[in-house]
Amino acid sequence: MIIWGWGHLNKKYIGIVGLYICEHCGNDVQWQLWEYSVWFTLFFIPIFPYEFHRLLLCPICAYGLELDKPKFKELEGIVENRKLVSGSEIKSKSHNGCGLTIIIVVSVVILLWLIMNWNAIMSYFR
Ligand SMILES: [Zn+2]
Repeated sequence: MIIWGWGHLNKKYIGIVGLYICEHCGNDVQWQLWEYSVWFTLFFIPIFPYEFHRLLLCPICAYGLELDKPKFKELEGIVENRKLVSGSEIKSKSHNGCGLTIIIVVSVVILLWLIMNWNAIMSYFR
């Protein structure tokens, strides 16, 4: 039984950076900022990310650039400013269940420990 694994991919949409011509498909498009993270999983539950890819993508042909962290932060700032100006917030599908994941894993571990030591615990109370 496989209880742990690598490679759960989580895609987080940050927002629109601006209007540029795509050098791949030639369309004048709103370039999108994405952050892909690869997660370590336990019992098929994502525990923590160990790899990040920061991407600027053309929404039509998915051609894009991989950004380094400072450039990504700079573009993220532009996205935030655009959101403030336009007042429209696009809900991103982000991973905010990490704290809950840890609670579930700890509960499962405690439960397994209780099951394995059940006889010892009961004999203590007898
Ligand atoms: Zn394109």
